[in-house]
Amino acid sequence: MNKENTADLAIVGAGIVGLAHAYHALKKGLKVVLFEREQFAVGASVRNFGMIWPIGQVPGQGLEIALRSRAHWMDLAKEAGFWLNPSGSLHVVYHQDEWDVLNEFVNLYSNAPYQVQLLTADEVLKKSPVVNPKGLIGGLWSSTECVVNPREAVRRIPHYLQEKFGLELRFGQQVKEISLPKVVTSTETWNVDKVIVCSGADFQTLYPEAFELHGVTKCKLQMMKAISFNKNFTIGPSLCAGLTLRHYQAFASCPSLKKVDERYDRELKEFKMHGIHVLLSQNNEGELIIGDSHHYGSTHEPFDSEVVNKIILNYLETFINLGDYKITERWHGIYPKLSGKLNLVVEPEPNVTVVNGLGGAGMTLSFGLAEEVIQNLH
Ligand SMILES: Cc1cc2nc3c(=O)[nH]c(=O)nc-3n(C[C@H](O)[C@H](O)[C@H](O)COP(=O)(O)OP(=O)(O)OC[C@H]3O[C@@H](n4cnc5c(N)ncnc54)[C@H](O)[C@@H]3O)c2cc1C
Repeated sequence: MNKENTADLAIVGAGIVGLAHAYHALKKGLKVVLFEREQFAVGASVRNFGMIWPIGQVPGQGLEIALRSRAHWMDLAKEAGFWLNPSGSLHVVYHQDEWDVLNEFVNLYSNAPYQVQLLTADEVLKKSPVVNPKGLIGGLWSSTECVVNPREAVRRIPHYLQEKFGLELRFGQQVKEISLPKVVTSTETWNVDKVIVCSGADFQTLYPEAFELHGVTKCKLQMMKAISFNKNFTIGPSLCAGLTLRHYQAFASCPSLKKVDERYDRELKEFKMHGIHVLLSQNNEGELIIGDSHHYGSTHEPFDSEVVNKIILNYLETFINLGDYKITERWHGIYPKLSGKLNLVVEPEPNVTVVNGLGGAGMTLSFGLAEEVIQNLH
């Protein structure tokens, strides 16, 4: 074995989960090697909105991790030199039942570490001039949400970690066997003390039984990118509306949510059928990132549905005055999904930790969760 091929820790996967673990391990002074089978990251971590979204998390569960994660994102963006906009977010509402949910949310969690405020319609429009004023009742402003451009950030972070901390980067190398101390890839064998497996939606290659045991499934989400013909089109904070209230766990305890849920079911059953709620973010190029839908299963069709995209755009146009725009890209992403749990952190054998199942909140939670996992390595 080549003497140089030794490290304290091997990480499998250069998505955001693997990168967050590499960041904390390197900061702790460990020698780390990171394996990614692709030449650059192409998984869920570059297919998302780039939203760091603490407002979706429940206090005592994900919220504190999300807020710690946010602080790490802010540090890292500065250190590594990628774009991060601490834009905050707005949930805008047009129905009394939605306004009731927002009021209940604010009262229920008055002692939680959210940084939220109810806004009147006029105050909403001051924060975001693109919100449709017609029928607008008000909104929930939250100052903790940030946006990164995931394609920029997720591809910059590994190189920054290499330059600054000497991360051993191995793109284009699939890990095909782990039998400690050996980690074997298509072209190299490494000698390491510990391994963290962050393989995203690939459940088959490494420790498939760990995923089976915990009932992990996969969620497919359709997304679009658009540009406005108005060069000055600026959304301000990331935006969403009433449909989003039934998507995030944070609102699940609000009594009026049932009414919202039933009304949307009556209005269009396809919202639930396709798991549609609508979020809008804007990146550093001024591009609009629009989504999404949620379909669950162990294998997904590679084909996207225009019917689903149309429902997303129609709903978006109920709360945003988009003006003239054109769709420039359509794609889908897939993430692993656990039911009833925030994440999967298991040790399928001594000194090997699988970290996965962060669902639709991997950008939001990774740096906070990875900090805990690395602290607990002994
Ligand atoms: C459309 C969409 C929108 C989303 N929006 C948001 C959002 O705005 N905010 C948010 O917080 N979360 C969001 N999420 C969720 C978030 O993107 C995911 O939770 C997160 O990206 C998962 O990261 P990961 O590192 O586990 O997976 P991935 O990014 O898929 O990375 C896993 C990597 O492991 C590599 N790999 C697998 N097996 C091996 C092997 N044996 N050897 C070497 N390499 C291997 C793969 O090639 C891949 O690059 C969204 C997800 C999607 C799909």
